[in-house]
Amino acid sequence: MSKFVFSEWPPTLSEAQLEALTLYSTTYALSHGLLYLPAVKPQPLIPNSSIHAPLSVFPSPFPSRLFSLARRLQSTYNILYARIAMDVEFLDNVMGAIDGVGKVDDFVGQLWTGWKNLRVDGEMPLQLGLFRSDYLLHAGSDGEPPSLKQVEFNTISSSFGPLSERTAALHRYLYAATSYYNVSPHIKIENFPPNNTTTGLVEGLAAAHAAHSVKEAKILFVVQAGERNVFDQRWLEYELLEKHSIRVIRQTFDQLAVSASVDPTTRALSVGGTEISTVYFRAGYTPTDYPTAAHYETRFLLERSNAINCPSIPLQLAGGKKVQQVLTQPGVLERFLHDVSAAQIAELRASWMGMWGLDEEAGVQKARNMAQRLVLKPQREGGGNNVYKEAIPVFLDALPPLERQAWIAMELIVPPEGTGNYLLRAGSEGAQNAVRVDVVSELGIFGWALFGGPNRGIEEKEVGWLVRTKGKDSNEGGVATGFSVLDSLLLV
Ligand code: ADP
Ligand code: MG
Ligand code: MG
Repeated sequence: MSKFVFSEWPPTLSEAQLEALTLYSTTYALSHGLLYLPAVKPQPLIPNSSIHAPLSVFPSPFPSRLFSLARRLQSTYNILYARIAMDVEFLDNVMGAIDGVGKVDDFVGQLWTGWKNLRVDGEMPLQLGLFRSDYLLHAGSDGEPPSLKQVEFNTISSSFGPLSERTAALHRYLYAATSYYNVSPHIKIENFPPNNTTTGLVEGLAAAHAAHSVKEAKILFVVQAGERNVFDQRWLEYELLEKHSIRVIRQTFDQLAVSASVDPTTRALSVGGTEISTVYFRAGYTPTDYPTAAHYETRFLLERSNAINCPSIPLQLAGGKKVQQVLTQPGVLERFLHDVSAAQIAELRASWMGMWGLDEEAGVQKARNMAQRLVLKPQREGGGNNVYKEAIPVFLDALPPLERQAWIAMELIVPPEGTGNYLLRAGSEGAQNAVRVDVVSELGIFGWALFGGPNRGIEEKEVGWLVRTKGKDSNEGGVATGFSVLDSLLLV
């Protein structure tokens, strides 16, 4: 078979084929829960309609060897971030409000201070991480093959596991139903890797629930009011119930302010009279989730309880972009991974782009000089917060020197040119064919880790994957923010 050429993807479809695939895609998505709530404000309390999630018609090509590498790295990342979350001194230095980022970033400072006030010497709470490590392909120079480069590591609200599983199922279905009209010899069923992410993530939640060992307890999902990505969350809920007989309560911080309490003696967390084993945050990652001091107090109440927090505050702080940058400094990674082979550490390091802080004038100067090849990132999640390329010098001019510490500079990953796909977004008019655009695809690998508590090691697992694809000319990705569509993999 001919060698795969990225710039020749996707294969060409006739109008009639595209129309058929569009109809197959939207109807499959609508009937298999690959869904979003429509963009209406305010969201009705009880929704009665949904739209299909934004989708790609073809899976996106990804070198098989780099997919294996990304999966192989995940266990080491699970362990690394668990250890960072348990290293109080490291987090104080990097993210704390005395010397670290928390000094200049109010959101980080609030979380850190709340956590510091709750710490008990010699005690390490049991905590759960549901992680997602994100990567882009980085084009090789002079005909060299592309390499795998990490964008970021998420430790809170790592979303789209269940919807990515359903997108992979959609692409398998399109193949089964149409063979994609035999438009490419590369589209073969053995090149569609399995995706069982829902089961994997739910096993992590169930492991935490079991460790809490109060059988009739429930898992609390902390959610945002007006969330549109509810089906991705519900699929986790259904699987917890069906496979593990674990019930879920969904509440916002506002609801919890009234309903949640912690027993002063046992520290059991109760929500509306029901004990909670595990608190799974799909909110709380952005300052707008904490409009008042009372919202932080609710977060600290949950943190103070004996429920297993996913994530704990230190684990959320460990996911900061500043931590990602500090890990690139000589010796830091080695200190956390003393029991990992030099070859594995080298493999991990090779997946990183250059990063540095802006705390010193030299870092700022370097960022100005290299602006065209850089992105600047603050300590925020959820997309839409970064500053790119030509916007960097102006941004640095306006940034008060005291706030520089809250930002990092990162070299831009340069994906292979010319790859396209047909993207499909639910329009208010309905019945629109997918449109062909040049794209960039971001791979996410999911993993979980259960750690902390007395006499426990780190239990961890790599559990699945996600692809989000965006138009090439958009700097940012992010399905929730409207920049990307859900996609799956074609291994090449
Ligand atoms: P967030 O936590 O808000 O998702 P990210 O670090 O993932 O922040 O950045 C958002 C998006 O910006 C990414 O999904 C990616 O599309 C783009 N991006 C981030 N870092 C880089 C980079 N080094 N090179 C190229 N694109 C990047
Ligand atoms: Mg991201
Ligand atoms: Mg993120």
